[in-house]
Amino acid sequence: MDKKTYIKKLSNGIKCLFISTGNDGLIQIDVNIRTGMYHEDNDTLGLSHFLEHLNGYFLSKKYQDGRQMEEKLNYYGTFSNAFTTDYLTSYWIKGQKKNFDIYLDIISNSFNEFHLDKTLFKQEKNAVIEELQSLKSEKWNKADEKISKILYPKHIESKSLEDEIKNVKRASINNILKLRQKYYKAHNTLIVVTGDFNINSMWKMIRDSKFSKIVASEENPIPFPLLKYDYKGPRLVYTKIGNTDSTRLQFIYKTHFDAFSNKKYALDLLNSCLCHDFDARLYKILRMDKGLIYSISSDISLDNQDSDMGEYELSVEISFKNVEDVIKYVAIELKKLTEKMITKKEMTKCKNIFLTKKLDMSLTQDFEKYAGFYANSVMWKGKVIKFEDEFKKYDKVTREDIINLAKELFDKDNVLIAYSGEKKMTKKIEKLSLDRFTW
Ligand SMILES: [Zn+2]
Repeated sequence: MDKKTYIKKLSNGIKCLFISTGNDGLIQIDVNIRTGMYHEDNDTLGLSHFLEHLNGYFLSKKYQDGRQMEEKLNYYGTFSNAFTTDYLTSYWIKGQKKNFDIYLDIISNSFNEFHLDKTLFKQEKNAVIEELQSLKSEKWNKADEKISKILYPKHIESKSLEDEIKNVKRASINNILKLRQKYYKAHNTLIVVTGDFNINSMWKMIRDSKFSKIVASEENPIPFPLLKYDYKGPRLVYTKIGNTDSTRLQFIYKTHFDAFSNKKYALDLLNSCLCHDFDARLYKILRMDKGLIYSISSDISLDNQDSDMGEYELSVEISFKNVEDVIKYVAIELKKLTEKMITKKEMTKCKNIFLTKKLDMSLTQDFEKYAGFYANSVMWKGKVIKFEDEFKKYDKVTREDIINLAKELFDKDNVLIAYSGEKKMTKKIEKLSLDRFTW
């Protein structure tokens, strides 16, 4: 299932990860830079995303024309794109092995001698604003922003899309170049080559490319602000959202561990036990026994760097008349997990889910999956974490680990109940709801 990997470093400090997938004739090169929304402040809000759009055109001193570049990339039948996350900006080209020298020339030039075209700047400023406007008009956005302000005050995560739009609107070319200068440095960058290659000749090609011409930079990671805020629950928050028949009800628990913690695996299993299938605890009660919901979604979001940024969220969209009952039953089920160990049968079932996922994973040749997963571990842990080892961690979780995690997590101090929709509950019911989550 796992692929052969090599980690090397150019003399200027750029790290390179090579993932060999076999003789399939396909190859992909990614440039990953440690910069994203969590590195931003009031002045730079939204600019990593804006810059990511510009990266996606692969322009450089050598290749200055956006349309010609489009033509060139399409002529060779390549796929290419760019994305940015909280801590990462990435752009990549994927295509046939025989043309790799061309992709390498394009991408290494655009990294080393980035070219910013004025017309493109205007065009992409509008594109980013349009993109943000459309996110802003999503049904539950107002509620999501309110929740972020409560859980992550003063952190960049608490900024609204409106704040971001305003800042992107006033951004100048200089602002973008300044941000780029600060983060697009050799030691802050990881190049990933995935696919069909011979490591010796590939390493030589990279060394001979424009990536080697970038000036060396100091080794220290560039800092970013941590959350440094201790949320105190229980709290209940209501957001009025008009023009809807449904009420969205969310149970959010703050976690205090990062994405590499062993507790992550216990939480994955616990989450499966609650809502993986119709046989899972919350589905069984809310849908099968009581007929209160159609579906339940859950989300585990853990941070690579900041253990206080994580949360576990359960969410349902229901009729207002069912809100009180759903709150009652969810509270009962979560409390049970803190009092009594899950059964051996449940544990086996939950582990089987991840065993199947592992087998499924072993069938895939999906480059993004390998490049994404391995690169993530190299960037944040300095080494490749193998899928094989990752899945072994599920097997090591015990029923004691699950109950201990439930006790730690499902604590009144960590909980935020959020509901959004047309109608607000009475004060009395709000109080009763909060009381149910205090044990
Ligand atoms: Zn975008």
